Amino acid sequence: MQEKNKALGTPVRYFKGVGPKRSALLANIGIHTALDILYYLPARYEDRSALTKIEDLKVGEYQTVRGRIVTTGSRVAKSGGRLFHLAIADDTGHIQATWFNQPYLADYLNPGSTVLLYGKVERYDRLQIVQPEYEIVKGDETGSLNMGRIVPVYRLTRDITQKYLRTLAHEAVTEYSRSLSETLPAYMIAHNKLVDIKFAMSNIHFPSSSGNLEKAYRRVVFDEFFILQLALALKKKEMISIPGGGLSHRLSGELTGGLVKSLAFALTTGQKKAIADIERDMSSGRVMSRLLEGDVGSGKTVVAAYALALTVENSFQGAVMAPTEVLARQHFIVLSEFLLPLGISVALLAGGMDQRSRARIHSGIGSGEIDVVVGTHAIIEEGVRFKALGLAVIDEQHKFGVAQRSLLKAKGDNPHILAMTATPIPRTLALTVYGDLDMSVIRDMPKGRKPIATYWLDEAKRAEAYDFVKEELAKGRQAYVVCPLIDASTKSTGLEIKNAEDLYRILKNGIFPQFRVGLLHGRMDPKTKDRIMVQFKKGAIDVLVSTVVIEVGIDVPNATIMFVENAERFGLAQLHQLRGRIGRGTHESYCILLANPKTAEAAKRLKSIEENLDGFQIAETDLEIRGPGEFFGTRQHGLPEIRFGNILKDFAIMEAARREAFDLIARDPKLEEDRHAALRKTLFSRFKGNIELIKAA
Ligand code: ADP
Ligand code: MG
Repeated sequence: MQEKNKALGTPVRYFKGVGPKRSALLANIGIHTALDILYYLPARYEDRSALTKIEDLKVGEYQTVRGRIVTTGSRVAKSGGRLFHLAIADDTGHIQATWFNQPYLADYLNPGSTVLLYGKVERYDRLQIVQPEYEIVKGDETGSLNMGRIVPVYRLTRDITQKYLRTLAHEAVTEYSRSLSETLPAYMIAHNKLVDIKFAMSNIHFPSSSGNLEKAYRRVVFDEFFILQLALALKKKEMISIPGGGLSHRLSGELTGGLVKSLAFALTTGQKKAIADIERDMSSGRVMSRLLEGDVGSGKTVVAAYALALTVENSFQGAVMAPTEVLARQHFIVLSEFLLPLGISVALLAGGMDQRSRARIHSGIGSGEIDVVVGTHAIIEEGVRFKALGLAVIDEQHKFGVAQRSLLKAKGDNPHILAMTATPIPRTLALTVYGDLDMSVIRDMPKGRKPIATYWLDEAKRAEAYDFVKEELAKGRQAYVVCPLIDASTKSTGLEIKNAEDLYRILKNGIFPQFRVGLLHGRMDPKTKDRIMVQFKKGAIDVLVSTVVIEVGIDVPNATIMFVENAERFGLAQLHQLRGRIGRGTHESYCILLANPKTAEAAKRLKSIEENLDGFQIAETDLEIRGPGEFFGTRQHGLPEIRFGNILKDFAIMEAARREAFDLIARDPKLEEDRHAALRKTLFSRFKGNIELIKAA
């Protein structure tokens, strides 16, 4: 007779050994039902499948050994605690095991019993295994969940042990996994050579071999990535199928042609390619949704200017939103240089403006007198109404939230979107985080850029470094000096961390008295910041001491020195961005990182920035050091978090899942086919709360 399938929704309190107290503890880690246990996947595994004979044990390694207890005893340890010890024997020798402060073991582990021990083998006066995991072997020795096999290791919470979770998982697998049904259509399982879900579930918890673990892992990760990619595919589908109406632009070249002619330089291959992508999108009759990715200094602004000119040429308006006031002003200046000569009117809308000028600009945007408006969040304020917004450019797009981006979009009738970022996103991440955007990547730098020499120095070299800066200043060059803090008010725990205000005084009066030293930081009012920036740009300031406000700010070709204090306190991406502020002119540039790193990780960052100029490589390193979660949280994008798979290691699975998801949505956009019914159900139950976000983003 066939056993009846048990309901996956069965509450955990029906499991053996789960009372009210334990069930509350399990609830804390999100486990309420049998299904939750099945999907509480191991964080890692330990291969304890090989039993090692005592004579073959290797000192310093974790191993599993099996033997009969020959003696037990306890004594007071040097530290004062109780120490329980025993010795086991197999047919090749003896080994001792010790545990601290677990006196109850004496009642449990008795001479004559056979035990499995797993732990690190040491040699003091004799062979020892310290604080091992143990299990008494009853008649049937193959039944062990904890030893003699590949063992799952779960993320724990206080008061729940590995052993306890393994017991629960085992009950879930043996009693409930047969109730699981497939969500993936059969053709997809076959096409990707995936194992079925029941096999996957039982082997992901209790692998019968490393080969089967690999298969199970691939299936579970595929499922996870596939759901994510399906959500992305739907989101993209929704976006591009919006009828663009008037947004299908003609490519007359009326203004864009003039722009290209006016440039003092030839466009790089990457820029040309990006422009071609944009032209194709904007003339396609569908809404453009493109991410332009290019390292600092790769020349994204001129590409944006081209898209703006194309928009205006077709009688629409453009908006450029930047995350900081400094950057908005910079864009305003640069875009005006490109666009004004073509007869395109450009306006700046920033937070610090007075009421009158703001009202004037609002009205110009509303009437269509202003063709292109550049600004900060001020652009998405309620009072801003466009006559006909056709293109929204979002610079440093990862600095904006989903809500802000959709507010900007809502200022027009489905305008084209050009998002830009100078944070090179490794391909691995781009597929996940920006999986719904088309990408144009500028990988080449404009010709004639001199490589920036980067030096990581410690405090002892400070005087020498200052002498070097002086020489450069004497040649007429300018320098940035960047500190982590604004002033001494945020005194950290005895660490020597430089603040901009103190350092400004020291440099001005003591170190560079013959040069003009300026100060810039985030707490200054916008007018002052602006004035100082302009002075530096004009060359009226030689040394600009600042905080990271200049991170994405100023383009000053004559500035050739970037001197970073406490460089160990900055992230890799941030250091790379800072360095991108120099090397913009014809002179040699130098980046000096003063740092005494306290951790190996910080040292690794500094080494990487010192040896590497390519932003993409730096981003890859950054990703390796920090891990995907930190590098770019996926949560803010309204997408599911990746919890099990590793988007770096499992990139090939991500690609396969993506292909399947996008193919499927192309063929069956509403998941109406019968064979996709289970999938539709899963997707909608998973995204109950998020479906709006999927639409909005
Ligand atoms: P980013 O990609 O960091 O925004 P910018 O657009 O600010 O870079 O460009 C950096 C500098 O390079 C600017 O001074 C710009 O005028 C210049 N530039 C852009 N494209 C080229 C090119 N093809 N050849 C030479 N210089 C260029
Ligand atoms: Mg830029």
